[in-house]
Amino acid sequence: MATLLSKSNNIPTLSRLYSLEPMVVGTPLTESISSYLTRLAQEHCVTPQKLIMGEIAPLIMGDKYRSEILSKNVSTVFGNSDAKPAINGMRDMTRSLVLALEKLTLRQDLRYLSCSTWKGIIKERGLFRQDKAWCPQCFEQCSKERKPIYEPLLWSFRDVNFCPQHNCQLIDRCPDCNSAQKAIANNSRLGFCSRCKSWLGNQPGQRINGIEDNSIHIQGIGDLIAITPSLILPPNLPDLMKKLQLIHFSFERVVNRDLTQFIALGKIMEQLKITLTQHNDKPLNLTKLLIPVCDHAQISLAQLLSQDVRALSKILFSNFKLNYQL
Ligand SMILES: [Zn+2]
Ligand SMILES: [Zn+2]
Repeated sequence: MATLLSKSNNIPTLSRLYSLEPMVVGTPLTESISSYLTRLAQEHCVTPQKLIMGEIAPLIMGDKYRSEILSKNVSTVFGNSDAKPAINGMRDMTRSLVLALEKLTLRQDLRYLSCSTWKGIIKERGLFRQDKAWCPQCFEQCSKERKPIYEPLLWSFRDVNFCPQHNCQLIDRCPDCNSAQKAIANNSRLGFCSRCKSWLGNQPGQRINGIEDNSIHIQGIGDLIAITPSLILPPNLPDLMKKLQLIHFSFERVVNRDLTQFIALGKIMEQLKITLTQHNDKPLNLTKLLIPVCDHAQISLAQLLSQDVRALSKILFSNFKLNYQL
């Protein structure tokens, strides 16, 4: 368990639950909050249901509901849809779950296991899967190498349909009983079907030949997950809009210089223009706008999100060989 020195009398404070370290934070394969919760339950030798009902739900719902909580199951605590993988996204319940787990473990890095940092900046609708998807080869490899079995946050995104490590398709149904898997189930155990308890790592996984259409999306989503913990300031929408304006400006200069570039850039410029003029305070679409814009601007999503406007202008003007200075 983690110990902290209490400010008043320097007596170490013990965390109520083990201060289990989340897997590979700051990389594209960062663990998801639902995976962390399930692993934490395993470490305490209890089911996720017991951990949630005994420790987490009272913090989220308040102690006075304790008697009510005991009669509920995991799905009702998180709301019908919150118990699905969207819990790894940006819902209010996601934030409550993260705060409860951070309090119980005395950790401050669990917020990076969901996408709650991007609430209000990136559009949530349609971004996350309703049920789990997984790479059987990742499970199998962790098991063979005796590493902790966990689920990356990356697998919660709808657009992520293959594993970049093993180049095979993710699967979303148990091969033995064909049931879909909820992100957090009463008795779930990572790597096993929550219904028939079969090991989910023994499928070879369908190989993908060549480059998938959406490999740019997977790369971009991985960038988003990896960059979040290292941002110096919390992201904000007006700042991001300024950067998009700068990119639009660069595209315009490129097309003015060489009209044939309109074939490559015209469509994305139009999309950017609509966003910049009509959606000033609305969250932005990650896979249909931000990732394709970065692709056309020859920058990574990490560069868009982490560089300030001045640094970004240098990169863009250099990419497009434009003689401008901000
Ligand atoms: Zn894999
Ligand atoms: Zn099954």
